[in-house]
Amino acid sequence: MDEMTKDSDNMLVDGYRRKIDYLRISITDRCNLRCVYCMPAEGIDLIKSANILRYEEIIRLVRIAARRGVSKVRVTGGEPLVRKGIIDFLSELNSIEGVNDLSLTTNGVLLAKMAGELAASGLKRVNVSLDSLKPDRFEKMTRGDNLGDVLNGLKAAEGAGLSPVKINMVVIKDFNEDEIIDFARMSIDNPYHVRFIEYMPFDTEAGWQKDKCISAAEIKNICSEVAPLVPVSDTKGGAGPARRFKYAHAKGEIGLISPVSDHFCGSCNRLRLTADGKLRTCLFSDKEIDVRTSLRDGSEDSVIEKILFQAAIEKPERHYINENVFKRCSRTMSLIGG
Ligand code: SAM
Ligand code: SF4
Repeated sequence: MDEMTKDSDNMLVDGYRRKIDYLRISITDRCNLRCVYCMPAEGIDLIKSANILRYEEIIRLVRIAARRGVSKVRVTGGEPLVRKGIIDFLSELNSIEGVNDLSLTTNGVLLAKMAGELAASGLKRVNVSLDSLKPDRFEKMTRGDNLGDVLNGLKAAEGAGLSPVKINMVVIKDFNEDEIIDFARMSIDNPYHVRFIEYMPFDTEAGWQKDKCISAAEIKNICSEVAPLVPVSDTKGGAGPARRFKYAHAKGEIGLISPVSDHFCGSCNRLRLTADGKLRTCLFSDKEIDVRTSLRDGSEDSVIEKILFQAAIEKPERHYINENVFKRCSRTMSLIGG
């Protein structure tokens, strides 16, 4: 391995002077659910197993990225908990010098079974995706009947100390908007951070339309019907792009994430790694930079490092999803890593 030392002048920064300190890693495109806004029911072109990065390849990449300023890592998918060996992988990620914030996004189906070992691996926090508390609607949305498993998973994560447990609800007009208040109320008696996410445009069967997207401002108004919302500004729990509020005396809080109506590109600090080894510069851009080839052809760390710098420099200033030039991404969230 070639010599590289941490050099504060040589950290990952993009062309707009944004510091890149966050890597979101998809470890699989496989999933045990089929959410209508994310994956088709069948006929999915799965990535060939041979093309999926091995854990040791990802670990090497993260080690190199950590020397250049990446300190936050989120593991996602597809559904990350379906990939074998994830616990040992997380332990290794957690032991990388410089990585001090390790988290995971999951649909929660396997969380009740795995929360204890996930916490023991060094994982700090989980985000659990949950869009409906009504069994029939949950089933329609995910094409699975696992609502009970997910709710048990939330409790297990809380019990295991994976805190704060964040719940991600994607709000879709005429589908689950009537549950915004029920979700907001969950933050009163539980220490959950309930985050409402605007429905984003990907090329899926559900067919995104702008009028299906309820803005964060509208969601906030609806949440305010329960009780006044007080802004939260501390930085505990890796707030990221969420605008945070809470009800007075609530155990948890509420977050509003507005990629569509009010983008937060100016403070974007992340790169994404797909399961097949492409670095993506923006969730809404099809620009991909291959790193798998260099991870497999005996290249030195300095080559991988250059690829990371190239990806950072190619980050676009912002997304264009509200403009005519915007073309929906060819990959869906299950392939990019949400
Ligand atoms: N399977 C895991 C899960 O569901 O949490 C991790 C991967 S999933 C692709 C990550 C997140 O992307 C989920 O919270 C999901 O709701 C979100 N997502 C997928 N498609 C979306 C869309 N069109 N708009 C908004 N969020 C979306
Ligand atoms: Fe699977 Fe997550 Fe996509 Fe749902 S959102 S299909 S759980 S990857």
